Amino acid sequence: ASQKSQDFDFFYFVQQWPGSYCDSKKSCCYPTSGKPAADFGIHGLWPNYKDGSYPSNCDPSNTFDPSQISDLTSSLQTNWPTLACPSGDGIAFWTHEWEKHGTCSESNLKQHDYFETTLNLKQKANLLKALTSAGVQPDGGSYSLSNIKGAIQNAVGFAPFIECNVDSSGNSQLYQVYLCVDTSGADFIDCPVFPHGKCGSEIEFPTF
Ligand code: 5GP
Ligand code: 5GP
Ligand code: 5GP
Repeated sequence: ASQKSQDFDFFYFVQQWPGSYCDSKKSCCYPTSGKPAADFGIHGLWPNYKDGSYPSNCDPSNTFDPSQISDLTSSLQTNWPTLACPSGDGIAFWTHEWEKHGTCSESNLKQHDYFETTLNLKQKANLLKALTSAGVQPDGGSYSLSNIKGAIQNAVGFAPFIECNVDSSGNSQLYQVYLCVDTSGADFIDCPVFPHGKCGSEIEFPTF
């Protein structure tokens, strides 16, 4: 459904752990450019309201145009790889994210700025470094939610929300990390509202 956004209150900046996307029941396909690095990848930058709801598909006429971001393509392939099947070059994923979410913040960030800003946020929040420095490694081991959250909070300065999914054996695992960002896309902020969803008491951090 298409919805015109008047405005929004903040962004969720969402990163995904590829090991947890791939070892789930639905499995994954590596992008045509090859297996991504063993690092968090961008899922998206999502405008949100502080009551927890969010606008989507705000401007169907503003379609994704790869020619506007050709200077960013190689960085997008590295930092925003697609893991959905069948294998793709990323254009379908970036198109989906732009059209569903990006068009809802286009009064603040035009297409090129939207992708560049999102890439910059990943540099500012190096989740893998934050976690490994705290001894939370993608080694298939189990960690507590508070250790995971604390490691990220220490490094980024703000509390994340951790979304879990389950591996093919049903174990709860670290899937996505949400951080909140101001409406300009420049700075992390305290989340006005957190998403919902439960993790197990022990959270697996699978290899990739
Ligand atoms: P799921 O239902 O798998 O959690 O989410 C499906 C999709 O809905 C996400 O990939 C994202 O596009 C959108 N979505 C889910 N939760 C939120 C949210 O809290 N805020 C926003 N802006 N989008 C969300
Ligand atoms: P969202 O959940 O953001 O609304 O939608 C994600 C969409 O992008 C789905 O249609 C999904 O198939 C596609 N997609 C392509 N690559 C990826 C990926 O690496 N991760 C996720 N979560 N979705 C992807
Ligand atoms: P508290 O507010 O005491 O930190 O947490 C309340 C409940 O929310 C607890 O069940 C806790 O496990 C859950 N919770 C807190 N932070 C997160 C998070 O980042 N992700 C998920 N999935 N649950 C959380």
